[in-house]
Amino acid sequence: MSSTADFASGPLLADVDLVVIGAGIVGLAHAYEGWRQGLRVAVVDRRSAAAGASVRNFGHACVTPQSGEAAEFAAEARRRWLELSEAAGFWARESGTAVVARSAPEAALLEQYAAAYDGIRLWDAATAAAEVPVTGAVAGAVLPADLQVDPREAVGAIAAWLEARGVQLHWRTSAHLIETGRVGTSRGVIRAERVIVAVNHDVDELFPELATATGTARCRLHMLRARVGLAFPLTRPLFTGWSLLRYSGFATMPAADELRAQLARELPQGIEYDLNLMFTPQRDGSLLIGDTHERGIADIPFQSEAGFDLVIDQTRRLFGAAQIEVVERWQGVYATAPGREFLIHDPMPGVTVVVVTTGIGMTTALGIAPQVLAGVPAL
Ligand SMILES: Cc1cc2nc3c(=O)[nH]c(=O)nc-3n(C[C@H](O)[C@H](O)[C@H](O)COP(=O)(O)OP(=O)(O)OC[C@H]3O[C@@H](n4cnc5c(N)ncnc54)[C@H](O)[C@@H]3O)c2cc1C
Repeated sequence: MSSTADFASGPLLADVDLVVIGAGIVGLAHAYEGWRQGLRVAVVDRRSAAAGASVRNFGHACVTPQSGEAAEFAAEARRRWLELSEAAGFWARESGTAVVARSAPEAALLEQYAAAYDGIRLWDAATAAAEVPVTGAVAGAVLPADLQVDPREAVGAIAAWLEARGVQLHWRTSAHLIETGRVGTSRGVIRAERVIVAVNHDVDELFPELATATGTARCRLHMLRARVGLAFPLTRPLFTGWSLLRYSGFATMPAADELRAQLARELPQGIEYDLNLMFTPQRDGSLLIGDTHERGIADIPFQSEAGFDLVIDQTRRLFGAAQIEVVERWQGVYATAPGREFLIHDPMPGVTVVVVTTGIGMTTALGIAPQVLAGVPAL
């Protein structure tokens, strides 16, 4: 993707052991692991601060319902979130996640899931109604291993904490040329034995052939923060039936097909927008609410009002809430690729592209990095 002449022109910006491109959670996870190993680390990001998926999400480490590699990555990431929260002084809580069932297929799926996995606490209708302020609960459950952080705080805090410990953070610095042993940036060349490319969906700018070959594209989401008139406060993240179709641990249960058919009958628009109605309560009492999923290669900035209406309307019905004051709306974007959750690939010796290709980067990134730096096989 470059010629030697491209590198000859720029000044030397840094000479390190490890350079990481992208200061979202995936990049910072690798910088943290490099720092732990005693490496000299530089991170470059083209923005002035993290502004990508890592600050636009729910702040929800959805550890419990993962399976396969994702479950392994999530278990290690959980340990590291708690370790970093204590070291870097940002808020994290071992909240678990509440799941509410409002129909027989949802309750059946939760029962099947609880029978297959240890540690899931099932709720009957009365307990669910007492635990979460929703209408029409017939059952529920707690996913005990899940964590919550504040995405707007955590990523910046990790970057600042690493910088204070000698990791170089080069903001407003765009990487455009990558070769074994060196990276060309808008401020000069960085020499490094090891290069990690953690640029999320923008991998198609740096490695277009890889993006094309793997079908890596953009998934765009409707997100909002609102003050909702709840009967009583929500004390932990909340999943609904739509979430039961999404996470691999749930979606493989026998009842998932029946649930999908039921939700499709009741709310076709939910299927059209690939709704995952979920909530994370914030420390100021507001809720982060989402989301929808629209996939494609193009970087489309526009969000339909219909998507926001869908999310708000379903929120109103779920909580029986008379009042919903939307405080902020935004678009989230993350990488998506058919049939895979992770794209970990070495396009050349010493260079590894690491992309989480579904919405679980906050859950898994901190657990991916140690394996990548130890030379995990491609995924
Ligand atoms: C709305 C939404 C909700 C989500 N909810 C959850 C959740 O609850 N739990 C969960 O686990 N996951 C969730 N996710 C997924 C998670 O946020 C992502 O998987 C994760 O943040 C991806 O991290 P990243 O570091 O790869 O990407 P990003 O945070 O997008 O960071 C990539 C960085 O690369 C930089 N960059 C790009 N190109 C270049 C270049 N050429 N040179 C220099 N810098 C460059 C960008 O500026 C950016 O800062 C959600 C995502 C969204 C969008």
